Amino acid sequence: MERVAAFFCPTDADRERLLELEETLRRPRVITYVAVAVTLAVLVPWTGWVVLLLVGVMAFLCEMVIRRRLVAGRTHPALVILVGFALNTVITGIGVAITGGAGSPLLPWMVIPIVSLAGRFDARGVWWGTGFVGLAIAVVVATSPSAFADNPAPAIAVLPLALSLGMFSAAMMRAERQQRTRSALDPLTGLLNRSSLPSRFGELAEQARLTGDSVALVALDIDRFKAINDTYGHARGDAVLRALAAAIRGELRSFELAYRLGGEEFLIVLPGVDLEHGAGVAERLRRRIAALRPDGLDVTASLGVSAAHGDAVELGALFDAADRALYAAKRGGRNRVEVAPPGDEARDGDGAPARPGARGR
Ligand code: GH3
Ligand code: MG
Ligand code: MG
Repeated sequence: MERVAAFFCPTDADRERLLELEETLRRPRVITYVAVAVTLAVLVPWTGWVVLLLVGVMAFLCEMVIRRRLVAGRTHPALVILVGFALNTVITGIGVAITGGAGSPLLPWMVIPIVSLAGRFDARGVWWGTGFVGLAIAVVVATSPSAFADNPAPAIAVLPLALSLGMFSAAMMRAERQQRTRSALDPLTGLLNRSSLPSRFGELAEQARLTGDSVALVALDIDRFKAINDTYGHARGDAVLRALAAAIRGELRSFELAYRLGGEEFLIVLPGVDLEHGAGVAERLRRRIAALRPDGLDVTASLGVSAAHGDAVELGALFDAADRALYAAKRGGRNRVEVAPPGDEARDGDGAPARPGARGR
């Protein structure tokens, strides 16, 4: 099942988008449930109480059980969403089947979940989901062959509705994804940019809180970079930044995250890594950069490391601790790694990286 989830939601960015959009989709979902329930209450004389009850069960399962699992972060989020989507379709199908199948006035409701697919998966997810809904409609219709024979029009008319919803939402999703990729990545280096840090870190902090794991942060700043720009020009400065970013990425494992915060400042997030191992990673990075000679120039960097575990994993505090350690590395002569004293991340922290770029070194 985890493989199925990974198929629909393959990359880290997909996961992040899914979790973020889940929050956005919550309100329309609740309003839809309320609208459906009110309509069914009005329609009770024609459709009966059972369908209303089914909607209640579905809303409870989706909002309470499924959402809780999603927030707990113990399962692949796409798996939770897929199960919710399938459950929604099946329960709606049962409601349609018991209110007349092919002749049910509720038949068009079966396409409603298709709208949410694009907010969660890529184009494959939209097509598989639309296909699943189509199949469910066919099964529901097959449970009432006589109603279909009497009047096949409603069941047939719903098919282009499903198709157009799937197509339009897939196209809008593609445009939104392109826009998102552009805004999440730094155009010069291809690393993640600052704006994508808080949401991803929030997820890591939540996981650390549940598992007690640690997270390490490495703040990296190129030494005397202004002199490189002033001596060799901005274009060579850019080439140095690109080469350094590639070296940093090359030194990390796939789930470790590298951000360019701006200028010549980088931040590396190491999930599941404690202070000692974080310092090891930082030292490897320092050596690699010192040996790199990007664009034929001698370049070094200074690094500051901080780490926390469990409840103490908090972006603002960890960032400030790593930043103070980096400042100490600069004062200590540059081209070196400094480690924040354990517990330093608890000193302060206002919930956001304070002021990278305004350190006045
Ligand atoms: P220190 O060792 O104390 O960090 O000295 P520094 O010269 O690296 O520090 P400072 O923050 O004074 O200089 C950073 C320079 O980075 C200033 C600016 O010219 C340059 N810079 C910022 N963004 C870019 C960019 O996108 N491309 C290039 N080429 N240079 C940039
Ligand atoms: Mg610098
Ligand atoms: Mg700087």
